Amino acid sequence: MISLSLAEIASIVGGQQHDIPDDGRRVTGPVVADSRAVGPGALFVAFAGDRVDGHDFASGAVEAGAVAVLAARPLGVPAIVVDDVVAALGALARAVVARLGTTVVGLTGSAGKTSTKDLIAQLLQRHGPTVWPEGNLNNEIGLPLTALRADETTRHLVLEMGARGVGHIRYLAGLTPPRIGVVLNVGSAHIGEFGGREQIALAKGELIEALPPAEDGGIALLNADDPYVRAMAPRTRARTVLFGEAAEAAVRAENVRLTELGQPAFTLHTPSGCSDVTMRLYGEHHVSNALAAAAVAHELGMPVDEIATALSEAGTLSRWRMEVTERADGVRVVNDAYNANPESMRAALRALVAMGAAGKATGARTWAVLGEMAELGEESLAEHDAVGRLAVRLNVSKLVAVGGREAAWLDMGAKNEGSWGEESVHVSDARAAVDLLRSELQPGDVVLVKASRSVGLERVAAALLDEG
Ligand code: ATP
Ligand code: MG
Repeated sequence: MISLSLAEIASIVGGQQHDIPDDGRRVTGPVVADSRAVGPGALFVAFAGDRVDGHDFASGAVEAGAVAVLAARPLGVPAIVVDDVVAALGALARAVVARLGTTVVGLTGSAGKTSTKDLIAQLLQRHGPTVWPEGNLNNEIGLPLTALRADETTRHLVLEMGARGVGHIRYLAGLTPPRIGVVLNVGSAHIGEFGGREQIALAKGELIEALPPAEDGGIALLNADDPYVRAMAPRTRARTVLFGEAAEAAVRAENVRLTELGQPAFTLHTPSGCSDVTMRLYGEHHVSNALAAAAVAHELGMPVDEIATALSEAGTLSRWRMEVTERADGVRVVNDAYNANPESMRAALRALVAMGAAGKATGARTWAVLGEMAELGEESLAEHDAVGRLAVRLNVSKLVAVGGREAAWLDMGAKNEGSWGEESVHVSDARAAVDLLRSELQPGDVVLVKASRSVGLERVAAALLDEG
């Protein structure tokens, strides 16, 4: 982060300085909301959350070295006091990013933001100092906290922008105006909250509406394979570049296949040449993510061979996303418990089947341990039913549906699709799933664990790996 005096910060955020000693102290970073991450030079941001109030941790933060606290009330420690801490944090990020002139890459989409952000970061950091969020910091708090890590040496700032409704991305893009905007897809994640796919497209497209015009360097990277994303093109003044498998895409994958490990391989085509890629990540959905990342890197001048090498070497940076671990007995556990929606469920099931293909001849099985996909609204029953049916059609060996009503729909879909009986089981919770799997798993089996965040199915993966 850049160095700022408390007076400068107070002026940027329109706050009052309280209890600040006259010692010329400056914030040199980091700006953090977690008092455990405070170090000398930090600015501690106190949010009043539903369960925890950051204001309670202010004095501890100052003891740990924080220069001051950004807070909603005076606390008896050095503080800059504002009415709205979230808005103040946003204003601070906006001012700092505007001063830096670093290239901001913003990305959004229903699925794959975090994975793609990690890929872009791994590509761009070969090309110059790059700042990106760890994990999933994509909202009005995480995004400015990440942006504030940038300093004068930062060449690229990669930011994930999530939307829970119309207007959110416009707000985020206003804080850290991107020059390059990537829209991955318009799926059904959070469709219940949004009220339909058109609304989701409306919200995601706000990113490219915020881009500068083509003559000022604005570039909109759009997924050619997603009709809702392609249709966004008229909403931007930026130059539009398509990526995808479609023939019209400027950055394109040809000859896409899954290796027998379930890792995607393809030939990357860009306007400046082509090169072969074999990814270390699992699942065909990463082809789309890789193309998005390649398009960004290409637009920033990276040669195609370097892009292909970086994509082939890129690993997972964010946990619980298709994390593959092999136990001593040869059982492979695919932990994709970070989140789930219908698109990512389908992608993960296909990856599972590809990973199990080689072992099939020797009797090894594929297990899909699945839980609820949350927030699907009216489509929930049909979507769970469809995932259960897909498991049968893809020839997954066993389905273990974990949880309540939605799990019952998964199980019902599988049983109704084919002649499945014992191949599909419905259990009430993670504990029961673990017990079942412990008694059933055989060497060579592959187990996919996946559900929405709220289900917490990573517990199943952890329990299976514990006994290694
Ligand atoms: P969130 O909004 O929950 O932060 P996200 O958009 O950041 O999600 P990721 O965390 O990268 O997405 O991936 C979420 C899930 O979607 C994972 O299960 C992953 O396997 C799957 N996924 C990743 N990329 C794609 C894609 N391009 N299409 C469909 N599913 C994908
Ligand atoms: Mg994410």
